[in-house]
Amino acid sequence: MSAPSGFSPDLLAEIRARLPLESIIGRRVTLKRSGDGRSWRGKCPFHGGRSPSFSIRGQGFRCFSCGEHDDHSSYTMWSERVGFAAAVQLLAAEAGVDLPKQPGQQQDDAEEIAQQARERAERLAAQPGKSEGRDVEQEGLG
Ligand SMILES: [Zn+2]
Repeated sequence: MSAPSGFSPDLLAEIRARLPLESIIGRRVTLKRSGDGRSWRGKCPFHGGRSPSFSIRGQGFRCFSCGEHDDHSSYTMWSERVGFAAAVQLLAAEAGVDLPKQPGQQQDDAEEIAQQARERAERLAAQPGKSEGRDVEQEGLG
């Protein structure tokens, strides 16, 4: 599979290598280094829980509570509410990586991915933790 929006896997890999994931997420989330120094923990920015269920290890993150997991570009799409192409541009600028010129025809892909990111963000916002499905239909009583 080729990368969406025409960015080469090498380019994305270089961005990830230059830009520690904890430095991006650390702007919004207070992170603490784990005992072995190989991972970071903090409160999950996705579901907003109070316990530090969110963990960053290497070039990926995962929340043990809500299960959200991904990498640089997905996090940036979510945090900045932008499409994949825009997220990569932001990350590339920060990492000091030059992006190749984008042909205009890639817009559709970016738009579709942006839409998916928005839907996911909305879905996550709509379910703060696991709430029980009670009091749905209380009417027939009495
Ligand atoms: Zn979470």
